[in-house]
Parts: sequence; C-alpha cells; structure tokens
Amino acid sequence: MADIVIIGAGTAGLTAAIYARRAGKSVTVLEAATYGGQIVNTPDIENYPGIKHISGFDFATGLYDQATSLGAEVLFEKAVSIGDRDGGKVVRTVLGEYPCKAVIIATGAKNRPLGLEEEARLVGHGVSYCATCDGMFFKGKDVAVNGGGNTAVEDALYLSGLCRKVYVVHRRDQFRADASDVAKLKAKENVELVLDSTVTDLVGEKSLSAVEVTDKKSGQKREIPVSALFVAIGQVPDNTAFANEVELDEKGYVLAGEDCLTRSPGVFVAGDCRTKTLRQLTTAASDGAIAASAACAFIG
Ligand code: NAP
Repeated sequence: MADIVIIGAGTAGLTAAIYARRAGKSVTVLEAATYGGQIVNTPDIENYPGIKHISGFDFATGLYDQATSLGAEVLFEKAVSIGDRDGGKVVRTVLGEYPCKAVIIATGAKNRPLGLEEEARLVGHGVSYCATCDGMFFKGKDVAVNGGGNTAVEDALYLSGLCRKVYVVHRRDQFRADASDVAKLKAKENVELVLDSTVTDLVGEKSLSAVEVTDKKSGQKREIPVSALFVAIGQVPDNTAFANEVELDEKGYVLAGEDCLTRSPGVFVAGDCRTKTLRQLTTAASDGAIAASAACAFIG
C-alpha cells in the first residue's frame, strides 16, 4: 500500500510526488497517457521563475527524472474510480487496484475539440491539437491556428518559423494571450490574423485542404486553403470518473480552494483540474506542493 496515490503525471502531479517523497511518504503516480501533461506540447516556456527558456518536453522530463529519482513509482494506467477501503482509500485503474492512505487528483485538462462534423475524420490528416508534435509535417506549407489564448499564440509563433504562412483565426479582436507574445506575433510577416471569426467547416477528402471561416460581424464565409489546422481553443477537464468522490463544478472542474482540499477527507486536488482563476505552470507546481503537504499532514 502506498501512502499517497497521485492521479496524473503532469506538472501538478509530479511536483506533488517530489514534495511527498521528500517528506518520506511512499508515492505511486498513475498516468493515463505520457508524463508531463499539457506542457509537453509547449515549444518554449519563458515564464517559469528562474528559467529563462526551456522547452516543455525538457521541463517535463526534468520533473519526471526528479520525481522518479526521489523514489516515486510512476505507472502508466488510467484511473477509473476512487473509493474507500479499510479506513483508507483505493484508486482503481483499468488494470488493478491501489489502496492508499490519501489520494491527490491531478488530472489536468484535455484539448477542447471544435465540435465540427469532419473533425474526428481529419485528425491526423491535417487537423492537430499539438503544433510542436505535428508542425514539422507542414514545413513550407500554409497552415492555420484557431484560438486566441497563450497556446494558440505560442503555436502560431512556433509555426511561423516553419511554415510559409500562418493564419490565426480567433473569435474576438482581442487576445487572451500574454501581450508580449501577441506583439511578437503581430510583428511576423508571414502571419495573418483573421479576427472576429470562427472556423465553421473543414474541407478535404483524404486530408485537410481548406478551412471555412465565418466572419462573426458580417456573417460572410470564406475558404482559406491550408494543409493543416492547429486547434488551440482551450481545455476541458476529465474528472467525471471521480464525481462520486469529489464535487465538480458545472464545467467538470473539481471544486476546491487554494488549500487543495476536496469535500472528501483524504482526497486532495492539484493543478488545472480544479476550480481556479489562473492555470499556469507556476500555479500547477504551487498546487502540487500544497496538496502534497496537506496529504502528508492528513496521513500524519
Ligand atoms: P485559453 O486561455 O482558455 O484560451 C482559449 C482560446 O480559445 C481563447 O482565446 C478563447 O476565446 C478561444 N475559444 C474557446 N472556446 C472556443 C470555441 N468554442 N471556438 C473558438 N474559440 C474558442 O486556453 P489555452 O490557450 O489552451 O491556455 C490554457 C491555460 O494554459 C491558460 O491559463 C494559459 O494561460 C495557460 N498557458 C500558459 C502558457 C505559458 O504561460 N507559457 C502556455 C500555454 C498555455 P476567448 O478569448 O474569446 O474566450
């Protein structure tokens, strides 16, 4: 039996593992996909204190190495429920059961789909949710990015160095992304901003050949020929499996404050998967430390 089972090996989960191991607790981390979470897809991190530049992959790998070298066990299994057992908790995965004294939910969030009819068919054939993973396939081509947050703007900056032209389609005329990155984007000669507009259709038989964009003000539609569309319209949480154990808000985030406590004693929550106003690498790491400290204090 591990003292603490952490669900999710992103920044929050791995930071929690580091803090819990340094506090002398045994830790099992359960991860449904790959370690690192969303930050793996960020080409260049420039706002983590003390590090001027680092790729998301290098950052995540450093976290993983740090947690595992401290003795955290990381198992690549999807957690499907949390329950009670013998006065403690149990986390069930698709492969087994992990009894423990405390649980930290750090499931992060996954990419929000566009919700268009042709989307699923064209994923991997021009439609992508990860510019750093797939951008190279479209070197020298024309591509589009959809979204106006940090992910979309960073993706567009990255792609502008690889692709012939990058269209940034955003539903408003103001960006949510950091002003410094927006200024960099606007200075790029091969970037065209398509503002107040939404992607309303995906065109292409075997692979994407164009996106249909609708101007929200005029209602006018036009097709922009592109080889790829990088969708970066935010995230949605993935906590429904734990709805019996913790309270979720109307969007599916685990209800908790800065203390990372849930309504269930012994179950804590950290990072992007909980209700919060600022979802950043720094706040995910901060939550990991707070949740681990709370879990250690709970176990005693
Ligand atoms: P986000 O900040 O939620 O931005 C999502 C963008 O997509 C917004 O511009 C939003 O438009 C647009 N959008 C949402 N739903 C849409 C829809 N159905 N159709 C069209 N457009 C839609 O998401 P994110 O950029 O993925 O970032 C997530 C979090 O990670 C944020 O807190 C972000 O700051 C953080 N992050 C940080 C860094 C960094 O610090 N280096 C890098 C990446 C991400 P509106 O603006 O109109 O709402």
